[in-house]
Amino acid sequence: MPINENLVQEIVQEVMAKMQIADAPTGKHGIFKDMNDAVAAAKKAQVVVRNMSMDQREKIITCIRAKIHESSEVLARMGVDETGMGNVGDKILKHHLVADKTPGTEDITTTAWSGDRGLTLIEMGPFGVIGAITPCTNPSETVLCNTIGMLAAGNTVVFNPHPAAIKTTIYAINLVNEASLEAGGPDNIAVTVEAPTMETSAIMMKHKDIPLLVATGGPGVVTAVLSSGKRGIGAGAGNPPALVDETADIEKAARDIINGCTFDNNLPCIAEKEVVAVSSIVDELMHYFINDNDCYLASEEEQKKLIDVVLAGGRLNRKCVGRDAKTLLSMIGVTVPSNIRCIVFEGPKEHPLITTELMMPILGVVRAKDFDDAVEQAVWLEHGNRHSAHIHSKNVDRITKYAKMIDTAILVKNGPSYAALGFGGEGYPTFTIASRTGEGLTAAHTFTKSRRCVMSDALCIR
Ligand code: NAD
Repeated sequence: MPINENLVQEIVQEVMAKMQIADAPTGKHGIFKDMNDAVAAAKKAQVVVRNMSMDQREKIITCIRAKIHESSEVLARMGVDETGMGNVGDKILKHHLVADKTPGTEDITTTAWSGDRGLTLIEMGPFGVIGAITPCTNPSETVLCNTIGMLAAGNTVVFNPHPAAIKTTIYAINLVNEASLEAGGPDNIAVTVEAPTMETSAIMMKHKDIPLLVATGGPGVVTAVLSSGKRGIGAGAGNPPALVDETADIEKAARDIINGCTFDNNLPCIAEKEVVAVSSIVDELMHYFINDNDCYLASEEEQKKLIDVVLAGGRLNRKCVGRDAKTLLSMIGVTVPSNIRCIVFEGPKEHPLITTELMMPILGVVRAKDFDDAVEQAVWLEHGNRHSAHIHSKNVDRITKYAKMIDTAILVKNGPSYAALGFGGEGYPTFTIASRTGEGLTAAHTFTKSRRCVMSDALCIR
């Protein structure tokens, strides 16, 4: 029988491709040197995922959840060690939250109409391979939460993570692939490159096999993704104000605000970044901050020193992001006991430590004449991000007015900001809050496309 040269060539290419894929330099699953190889591997895995039953997908997700629980401490420590940001205890909680409450396949639902002319369904189908860009502030939390949601919807995912969190990200990506293999699924349900750069990001964004991009990060990356010419989900920056009026339970408001603001050293994009309070209760609120909630009142001189360090050269100093209050104070020569967890002060809304999204436990309080003035100042401080805001008030009409005026994806009333993620609040968590593009808190359903499936004149059995 004559040798079919084309067939031999095809086999050789396939073997070569497999060898390249197997040649993961870190020895971990889903990690590649080359972005094109990573995309090819995720594409291959998606063909398998696409043909799986929902039950099989759910089995993989159950295994991922178990592995996150087992590795929560390792991941939390790695995240803090590698990025220098956040704190281990809160990061452990965040991982358990992702494992327990990130929606799986139950989030994929069908809409149906049936009648004399037949049966019509809207099914939520996968996009295919999703390109996702992740921040250094919640690195493994975002990768794990994104992967569960994207996989539940039938996709696989290529990550271009923040280089400052690459080791932690690789650990998380290996974990989800190990879970998939253990549960009988394919390798490479999530992939990345060992050295992510702007170039690898550009390759991913332009790749013909990636129809959907999901960006979690600051304004630069969201704009880049939304300018790509592809469908983009943009989870951008916030600067959430917490408004407190005179009808609130001030003691509880103080506790909730400091608990939310100091969670993981203020890294979550939803966390309270400043307070706007009506004048008549500012002193009482400050009293509770300082006397009952371990806050340090910074003098004007200390505020100036903090500005010089935290916003050195007019730019956010990355070395200060996600640090605890004691460390930040030590950077300006102030020594405090270790129970101090937040730095507070009063200032105008234009104060650099108030108007900038700092992502550290420094909480400025802006005094407002009355409720309407507070709303106006809070809206200004949110900078039109439409991300998150918080309010402490017992007056429902006022809460409604604030909600309409600030128009954010998240508005927590009378609780700490993390209630929005299902910590002490109802609902599911996510670390990708699509503020810019309007999907809000992303979950499996966000990563699907709508398909209408019509049976004409049949299958109605009513
Ligand atoms: P960052 O914007 O510096 O980086 C985020 C990611 O985008 C990284 O992977 C980075 O490498 C990449 N990136 C940055 N500019 C890019 C560009 N022009 N093209 C392609 N890729 C680019 O943000 P960070 O410091 O890692 O995270 C903090 C920021 O992210 C804050 O502004 C925070 O509010 C925001 N954030 C938002 C959400 C959300 O759900 N909306 C969640 C977490 C963090």
